[in-house]
Amino acid sequence: MRTLFIYPEFPKTFWSYEKILELVNRKVLLPPLGIVTVAALLPQEWEMKLVDRNVREVSEAEWAWAELVVISGMIVQKADMATQIGKAKQRGLPVAVGGPFASSTPDAPELQLADFKVLDEGEITLPMFIEAIQKGECSGRFSSNGVKPDVTGTPIPRFDLLELDAYDSMSVQFSRGCPFQCEFCDIIVLYGRKPRTKNPEQLIAELQYLYDLGWRRSIFLVDDNFIGNKRNAKLLLPALKEWQIKRNYPFSFATEASVDLAADDELMEMMAECRFDSVFLGIETPDEASLSIAGKHQNTRSSLEDSVDRITSFGIRVMAGFIIGFDGEKTGAGDRIVTFVSNTGIPAAMMGMLQALPNTGLWHRLEKEGRLIQEQADAKGVNQTNLLNFVPSRPIRDIANEYVDAFCRLYEPNAYIDRVTHYYTKMGQPRWQKYVKAAALGKATLPTWTDVRALLIVIWRQGVLRDTRWRFWRSLLKIARLNPNNFEQFVVTLAHNEHFQEYRGIVTREIQVQLASLPPEPPPATVEQSRELQPA
Ligand code: SF4
Repeated sequence: MRTLFIYPEFPKTFWSYEKILELVNRKVLLPPLGIVTVAALLPQEWEMKLVDRNVREVSEAEWAWAELVVISGMIVQKADMATQIGKAKQRGLPVAVGGPFASSTPDAPELQLADFKVLDEGEITLPMFIEAIQKGECSGRFSSNGVKPDVTGTPIPRFDLLELDAYDSMSVQFSRGCPFQCEFCDIIVLYGRKPRTKNPEQLIAELQYLYDLGWRRSIFLVDDNFIGNKRNAKLLLPALKEWQIKRNYPFSFATEASVDLAADDELMEMMAECRFDSVFLGIETPDEASLSIAGKHQNTRSSLEDSVDRITSFGIRVMAGFIIGFDGEKTGAGDRIVTFVSNTGIPAAMMGMLQALPNTGLWHRLEKEGRLIQEQADAKGVNQTNLLNFVPSRPIRDIANEYVDAFCRLYEPNAYIDRVTHYYTKMGQPRWQKYVKAAALGKATLPTWTDVRALLIVIWRQGVLRDTRWRFWRSLLKIARLNPNNFEQFVVTLAHNEHFQEYRGIVTREIQVQLASLPPEPPPATVEQSRELQPA
């Protein structure tokens, strides 16, 4: 079976980082790990090709070659998903869809033309699909009916199908699921609250395969919460450290974790020694009342500022997500986020307006309260420039304006340099460097021509052209003096603002357009009304 995998295009988002990728000659930040995992679960005698639409178009030769088209994507990719399904159907090809969007909304209009809907996790539903294909069936819908597979049998993803040079970072997965119960989160709906992990040998084999394919850059562990099962994470990390030491740390790692990471020194030390350079935390808001309403109680147990500082002290850079628009939120939520981010110094603070994702606790509650704005959710999908898709408890225009204002202030070029400089004065030493052989460390720091060119462009823009020039040079000198071991990371983090500059403009424009076309505002839901209807 000649199978053509298509990964749909993403709209520009906070994480698309185009300007940075341009600087380092890459096309996309991360590859489609789900699709290469699906490829590994299908019969290996099938011929396979993969086109990531974020990298390039599907060629006519590839359409002509295919006997089956497999498309998988997330809710933000649904527009292009529909386009690619349409193109395949115009050519008379059978189409199978899967992934988070299809699994959460299999009856979405964008998926109407697909012949096969392979929902939920592929370890369970792909064998059903394969059986249907082998029987010559022309359509089908396969669901795991709530059963979550053991991932210790999941094969090594077919990384060989990827155009590796196009990606800035590679993805692997150790665990699925998260033990917490945040009301707005779709992870626990899709993958459950009992984290399931691979075994250490399995993950090491994946890394070895990437190493053998020639991969030498960073790796993103795309786990929903890497420390959801701390015991198993602590079983993995010693094996990972040993593998890294033997090869002189060819990879750096990033992942997502819950804030309780900050309470576990042993775990942070182990991660730092494996070369985890950064971790993404869902902080959401410094407003305790909003965190409680959202069911994010784990973020109320200790000071969030102290937690960020603690993780930073281990040499792990914190990235964080923030949300505005929670029920009962008081005016000034945007300001409070700006203050929090400025105090902690978090360089990459992702912000978005609260979205009710299908089938989450939040979605069901708002549906019951008659507050979902269905057309908006259906039409636009979910990303950082979408207005809330429900009637909030305070005027939507206030929330949107606070959001735009906060975002623009956070990424104002001078404010960004000050914040990042402040952050790197607190950043702990990179623990892993003590295990690297001196010769290899020297070699690793030799820059490529692409790196040099990128550095020169950043210096030209931030250190010469813009009014940031004095701050830029002062900050470079300060970190070179105070924290030389983190100097390279510091410069890379400064370069990230090339993307945020552009994204500031996108956020402002897109939100203003949506606000201008907004119908007269329905009366806001009262706090009492939303609290009365809170789940127990
Ligand atoms: S901690 Fe993160 S992954 Fe876990 S339930 Fe909350 S939002 Fe979801």
